[in-house]
Amino acid sequence: MAAETLLQVKGPKELITLSGERDRGGTWRWWVDRGEKGEERREWDDWLDALLAMDEDPWEEYEPIAVHPDFRSKIWGAVLQRAADPAGLVPWFRACFPEDPVPDPRSWEEKCPLPRLAEEIRKVRDAVVLTGAGMSTESGIPDFRSSTGLWRKIDPRRVATVEAMETDPDLFRRFYGERLRNLEDVRPHAGHYVLAEWAKQGIVRAVATQNVDGLHHKAGSPEVYELHGTLRTVRCHRCGSPAELEDFLEGRSCGLCGGPLRPNVVLFGELLPEEEWDRAIRAIRESSLLLVIGTSLEVYPVNQLPMLSTGRKAIINGSATEWDHRFHHVIHARIGKTLLKLDRLVKEMK
Ligand SMILES: [Zn+2]
Repeated sequence: MAAETLLQVKGPKELITLSGERDRGGTWRWWVDRGEKGEERREWDDWLDALLAMDEDPWEEYEPIAVHPDFRSKIWGAVLQRAADPAGLVPWFRACFPEDPVPDPRSWEEKCPLPRLAEEIRKVRDAVVLTGAGMSTESGIPDFRSSTGLWRKIDPRRVATVEAMETDPDLFRRFYGERLRNLEDVRPHAGHYVLAEWAKQGIVRAVATQNVDGLHHKAGSPEVYELHGTLRTVRCHRCGSPAELEDFLEGRSCGLCGGPLRPNVVLFGELLPEEEWDRAIRAIRESSLLLVIGTSLEVYPVNQLPMLSTGRKAIINGSATEWDHRFHHVIHARIGKTLLKLDRLVKEMK
């Protein structure tokens, strides 16, 4: 089957083309060509993943050159989701619907979540943010399912357990040693800093996170509830005394009782940290705006948290979730970029 152009945009320097190919069964595969920067021959079999690869450029701010007829509504929907200002969408409407008369751009405002969400963010003083793995992957934290080497053959669910710690402390320590080493070069991204800034401005009351990497702390968020614990500190498994990370990595035991040392993460099969959860639940119940970011809400009990909120709810995630219909605003896009746009809109509204 021949390659087809799905979407082509003209940036300040380059043409960016999203191409696709259909197999005999009608299934698409996609890839991106960035002109002089070269073709990204990574292939996607998911439309949204392919489109998110385009998100590395502000493609929706570029001039649309070609839109595939079969993808007109999808692309128009994606442009509406990313638009900071509906008035700028006229060229996109023309590219997507060349036969239709252009309506008044104000009629699109209802369908653009960013300006409407920014308006709500500007007004609140008690927003709560719930973040998941998607927040960290944009900082380059490897997803352990796609990890290389030793860990490709070993299921983390078998290593990150109390049983593994007790029966194979070496393997347990090597597993967390690698995860800690991976963290050394990781920095918060623009989205982490926007959330920290909103806390300082009194907009965000707290961040509840499923991530154990400490990036919200690093970015300066003052109130963070770590629902699955943190990798950055270590304690004795037996007596609970805090210990040095170095001692854990070098295989030493607790200086007080001789028990095994371990990171302060929640291991599979362990109870979740009650105090952090209580504080998160209270903050969510009392908040008038909940921002769910970078989580597909697949894991119980975290996926129950958004339902505790009686206020407004928004979700920013790289893929659709089965809970999307419960949110007032749904944005499927890159997180750092989306938060930067929202921050810019909030500042412009002041
Ligand atoms: Zn101890």
